[in-house]
Amino acid sequence: MAEYVWVDATGGTRSKSRTLEGDKEYKPEDLPVWNFDGSSTDQAPGDNSDVYLRPCAVYPDPFRGSPNIIVLSECWNADGTPNKYNYRHECAKVMEANAEHEPWFGLEQEYTLLDHDDRPFGWPRGGFPAPQGPYYCGVGSGKVVMRDIVEAHYKACLYAGVKISGTNAEVLFGQWEYQVGPCEGISMGDQLWISRFFLSRVAEDFGVKVSWHPKPMAGDWNGAGLHSNFSTKEMRVEGGMKHIEEAMKKLEPHHVECIKEYGEDNALRLTGRHETGSIEHFTWGVANRGTSIRIPRETAAKGYGYFEDRRPASNADPYRITKILMTSIFGKL
Ligand code: ADP
Ligand code: MN
Ligand code: MN
Ligand code: MN
Repeated sequence: MAEYVWVDATGGTRSKSRTLEGDKEYKPEDLPVWNFDGSSTDQAPGDNSDVYLRPCAVYPDPFRGSPNIIVLSECWNADGTPNKYNYRHECAKVMEANAEHEPWFGLEQEYTLLDHDDRPFGWPRGGFPAPQGPYYCGVGSGKVVMRDIVEAHYKACLYAGVKISGTNAEVLFGQWEYQVGPCEGISMGDQLWISRFFLSRVAEDFGVKVSWHPKPMAGDWNGAGLHSNFSTKEMRVEGGMKHIEEAMKKLEPHHVECIKEYGEDNALRLTGRHETGSIEHFTWGVANRGTSIRIPRETAAKGYGYFEDRRPASNADPYRITKILMTSIFGKL
């Protein structure tokens, strides 16, 4: 069984299955191009509705077990142009043009589990939980909910070879985070999208919804981000701090352009409160969680390492984030 997965028009994933003959080790180029009805997903008009699925990455299927596979696919229109929501195609070109810099990314995916009333799972009906404080990295009933989803998702990622590097309960009751990375180039977007598919798929088994919204609850509750950690070959070795500071200079004038790529409804989250920098200005600092970009203390102390772009929203497309970081810093393609 091959589960073809694609990114839809709403920033979610969709999938459908087909049977393949044999059980060889499939690579993307061995797999058939497939298609779906794009008029049902807002990805194509009704009178020309076929959207093509071109396989681009293959993973062992953690739900059905090997030799079954998960096939991440790019969406292409019938006229041979990339679909409007196919951000991978352009991202891959930028990664290839700048491969000499060996860009590594590590994304921190925050998300909120929702009950069927669309409020965070475990929140009292018609009321609110106690103020934030006990929930971040919390242990125990009343502090965290649905750890079974978190654990099953972690194992699903490991089984599939997705480089999940950790997980933790978040500040808002019902919110969690996992990290994927470091991944080089285009594989960052691929792996994050597959990890999101896995999370939605696992939560489905528990009858729980996953919200990727950056501000699931208005008011004095933390939002959800997709902190994007970044380094190049030059930043990771002695003298790297110089390259990190240069990147800050390159990113500053591209602030508005970057924000456009960093997810919907992000203005609700980037208020300058709740451990965020204001959406209005580009700021950076060492160990400061109220800035657009944070240089980890360890990186500043060693003089090389990576930086953390804290601006992207939890619902941002990783292909768009990783691409704009590269073009802002290197200006190529
Ligand atoms: P935080 O302290 O912001 O919560 P996390 O531990 O949640 O940080 O996430 C850190 C992320 O940074 C991980 O995804 C990790 O893979 C990534 N990372 C670590 N080193 C590098 C590096 N040199 N380049 C890019 N990403 C890195
Ligand atoms: Mn984190
Ligand atoms: Mn976090
Ligand atoms: Mn972070």
